Amino acid sequence: MEEAAAAAGGADSGGGGGCAGAPDEPVVSLAEVLAENEELEKEARAVLGGSDHERCSYSQGAVKRQALYACSTCTPPGEEPAGICLACSYECHGTHKLFELYTKRNFCCDCGNSKFKNLQCRLLPEKVKVNSGNKYNDNFYGLYCICKRPYPDPEDEIPDEMIQCIVCEDWFHGRHLGVVPPDSGDFHEMVCQTCMNRCSFLWPYAAQLAVPTLTKMNSHEDDGIVLNVKETEEQTREIKKESGLDHTEKCVEEQVEQCNEPSTSSGSACPKVVTQNEEQFCKLREFQRKPYLKKDTATFWPSSWRSKLCTCKDCLKMYSELDVQFLTDECDTVLAYENKGTSDQETDRRDPLMDTLSSMNRVQQVELICEYNDLKTELTDYLRRFADEGTVVKREDIQQFFEEFQSRKRRRTNRMQYYCS
Ligand SMILES: [Zn+2]
Ligand SMILES: [Zn+2]
Ligand SMILES: [Zn+2]
Ligand SMILES: [Zn+2]
Ligand SMILES: [Zn+2]
Ligand SMILES: [Zn+2]
Repeated sequence: MEEAAAAAGGADSGGGGGCAGAPDEPVVSLAEVLAENEELEKEARAVLGGSDHERCSYSQGAVKRQALYACSTCTPPGEEPAGICLACSYECHGTHKLFELYTKRNFCCDCGNSKFKNLQCRLLPEKVKVNSGNKYNDNFYGLYCICKRPYPDPEDEIPDEMIQCIVCEDWFHGRHLGVVPPDSGDFHEMVCQTCMNRCSFLWPYAAQLAVPTLTKMNSHEDDGIVLNVKETEEQTREIKKESGLDHTEKCVEEQVEQCNEPSTSSGSACPKVVTQNEEQFCKLREFQRKPYLKKDTATFWPSSWRSKLCTCKDCLKMYSELDVQFLTDECDTVLAYENKGTSDQETDRRDPLMDTLSSMNRVQQVELICEYNDLKTELTDYLRRFADEGTVVKREDIQQFFEEFQSRKRRRTNRMQYYCS
């Protein structure tokens, strides 16, 4: 799910891949080989970094966010869905067919519990039968989006990126969101159509905070009527009027209705003067006073929009009733998780050479440094030949170099041993 990961993180996955030479033989520069490896490593580190790859995460209870997998060997479609942690994916399901679920929030590892008929967890066999707090969806069977398709989808020829909804955590095709998504670099998080319907309190916020989108008049994708209009409020109203879909009136009603919602649902009478107590100030009510529309589309949000959501008593109660308390938590974002993964490992990994050196005795240190210098000199010499000839270094060339270096090293080591004994 590399594409999707990149899209959700708001990063540009680049795509292109650096094929500059003849079409039959792609050539890459050394810098590109190294950069590509680093890029892949960085991405893997970001997704997996925050998760423990040695200990089953079950002991931590419902982990705030972790990399998660589903095993179609152990729990194929038709069986109860189950999710397993990163460490279990290596230790207990290493040879099985796994669906990578990217990251999910508030999940307890299921490995070896009652959902598994023939498998005992090797890392933490003592688990309760069922983790009642876990939420499952079709992702656990390898199916995504409202169209319930696998990813990658062998029958899908339309290039499209998958975007994760931050509320339900399902993944969606960009073309199945009811609007044309903004460029992946222009938004941070997405809330899908279904979740926007369920959490309709987000619409007044959307009018003020969300990233503008191109309007697709109809959610039936094949109608294909896309208006190339940046959606300012006036323009949207214009469009709706022209097409006989004037939602403005309806929204005024909804506005009134929603205004009373938090207090009515709490069973008490509507507080007469809200401003009496400063702590009672509600940003949502403030936003509801301004014009807004409810649409049947997903919404796209910029970074740190979550911190702008109201945290008054009534709103917090509403979040918990809707089971979306995480929305006010900036640390719940995938980005925060990825940053944690990256920085955790960076402190872990400072400088592998220096770390290794400090744990060695003097003789070992000298040997290692000699070997490192050998490698550097030989690689530089090897690459200079290409530079002199003006030819491009191919992937195979680098591979060949390391193979030859290894065998030279082996010969050297063998000779040493012979010499020493
Ligand atoms: Zn586990
Ligand atoms: Zn398995
Ligand atoms: Zn396990
Ligand atoms: Zn779809
Ligand atoms: Zn959703
Ligand atoms: Zn509020």
